Amino acid sequence: MRVYNFSAGPGMLPLEVLERVRKGLTDYNGTGMSVMEMSHRSKPYEEINDRAHALLRELMDIPSDYDILFVQGGATNQFSAVPLNIGTVNGKADYVITGNFAKNAYKEGANLIDAKVAATSEDENFTYIPELTPDMFRKDADYVHICYNNTIFGTRYTKAPDTAGIPLVADMSSMILSQKVNVRDFALIYAGAQKNIGPAGVTVVIVKHELTERAAQKCPVMLRYDNQVKNKSLYNTPPCFSTYVVMEVLQYLKDNGGIDAIQKINEKKAAKLYDYIDGSDYYKNSVRREFRSLMNVPFVCPTKELDDKFVKQAAEKGLVSLKGHRLVGGMRASIYNAMPQEGVDALISFMDDFRSHNK
Ligand SMILES: *Cc1c(COP(=O)(O)O)cnc(C)c1O
Repeated sequence: MRVYNFSAGPGMLPLEVLERVRKGLTDYNGTGMSVMEMSHRSKPYEEINDRAHALLRELMDIPSDYDILFVQGGATNQFSAVPLNIGTVNGKADYVITGNFAKNAYKEGANLIDAKVAATSEDENFTYIPELTPDMFRKDADYVHICYNNTIFGTRYTKAPDTAGIPLVADMSSMILSQKVNVRDFALIYAGAQKNIGPAGVTVVIVKHELTERAAQKCPVMLRYDNQVKNKSLYNTPPCFSTYVVMEVLQYLKDNGGIDAIQKINEKKAAKLYDYIDGSDYYKNSVRREFRSLMNVPFVCPTKELDDKFVKQAAEKGLVSLKGHRLVGGMRASIYNAMPQEGVDALISFMDDFRSHNK
């Protein structure tokens, strides 16, 4: 039996994609072998790699002066790749701290260059996104770094901040492909695949081409954007199978109406869940309304004991991985692209049952 998996990552994948992958698992497209066994220099794999890049460009409407890289090491590796590749003109960068991942990105930046906290929402336990104006950033910063959707705290930016021309870098790990973004508002976007794009093991970097040409001399070769651009993300053995599944997810997304269609579904799913929470007089989400994430919805019961009971009983009903992050407690429902409306409906119906039995 398939469960509704509310995990923050790795998240669910569309069943149709998993079934397609299973069909080709031992013999991909008449090659007589699995993609797992395939040379990354072979023609069939090159086609997979090219197609994955092309589909992402098409779905996100990525302009031709931006490069797309599929790399390894997760979003976390980009915390160091970004300063080493683009924090190299004045060696300075400004960070906005809106949660744990944003803070980790800042810490890694501060290890490597002169990184400064431009703003933070830690004063209210990251339940909002600070108001950002261009004067908050150092004029000679090489970039400004933000985390567009805060997976643990359940907040999101509603628009890209104005940085007055300083290149804007965004960690979009937990919201990429879930809603329309204008790529031109950003100089660099990165995202680990395992939330909205596919399995763990591959990380997407979308970067304005001119920024790939200024890596620090000491930047390790595996982190260098110019090296990955030159080699079409095939400098060394890539995570072939993960990239293949990403390609299937992207194709599935395209076949089902692309980002416009999935955004409508995501907005509907999130609105229904927040409306239920707000109207319940029992469950509570403490994020300021205008910053509520479409993807990660934290909430609590009236007591901690009830939270634990909720998580346990929900799992018995096939609603799994609802335990909140230890920094926030309570529950968190991650409702990424692959979580169907029926999963959210099943969660709400369970919440209602639980509430009536545990008043
Ligand atoms: C999950 C996550 C990360 C960490 O991703 P890894 O691929 O595990 O390194 C970083 N940033 C955000 C916003 C995330 O949601």
